[in-house]
Amino acid sequence: MLVAIDGPAGAGKSTVARAAADALGFTYLDTGAMYRTVALARLRDPQADPQALEIELGDRVLLDGEDVTDAIRAPQVTEVASQVAADPAVRAAMVTRQRALIAGGDWVAEGRDIGTVVAPDAELKVFLTATAQERARRRAAQTGRAVDAVLAEQERRDDRDRAREASPLLAAPDALTVDTTGLSLQDVVAQIVRLADERRTAESTR
Ligand code: C5P
Repeated sequence: MLVAIDGPAGAGKSTVARAAADALGFTYLDTGAMYRTVALARLRDPQADPQALEIELGDRVLLDGEDVTDAIRAPQVTEVASQVAADPAVRAAMVTRQRALIAGGDWVAEGRDIGTVVAPDAELKVFLTATAQERARRRAAQTGRAVDAVLAEQERRDDRDRAREASPLLAAPDALTVDTTGLSLQDVVAQIVRLADERRTAESTR
């Protein structure tokens, strides 16, 4: 079974997806980490071929065996990630890997195009949003950076993600949109876990 969680930067996707996966006993897939890893590889070598990169996701993120868990969170990598993610060849390579992973077992996968492109037949699709101010405020609180700077970067990245031709950020028609502004992330997790449990029960009795 697959729970797809999509949405813009800072909507709480990682926190919610990780907690929901834990509660359900599913495996968590952070597809943004894949685009970030490609961005890091391209920053080091602009000719890096996304298909040839060895990317391992888990507690740590490995690029060709090197632990890049912290390096892929650097602001420059974040910026370049949304640039490489607009490249159809990069997307094709990552989507193939993502589909191979989620083909086995139960997953909560988080990204921008899980419910629309990677797995349009996911059993549960959630589109998480929050106001731009709220998203920037949360990210600033996490990182200790100024809200205005975070807001400016976030808008640039979201605009790029929404405007690109290849798999733009958008809610699948059958996704449940949840605006997390003013909600506690625990409440959002509880709602998703309840829905996933309902679908799981419905599946097992079918
Ligand atoms: O989710 P995260 O902020 O780590 O993603 C980094 C970038 O990767 C996003 O800004 C987006 O451009 C890209 N991305 C994507 N499709 C996904 C996941 C992430 O285009 N499924």
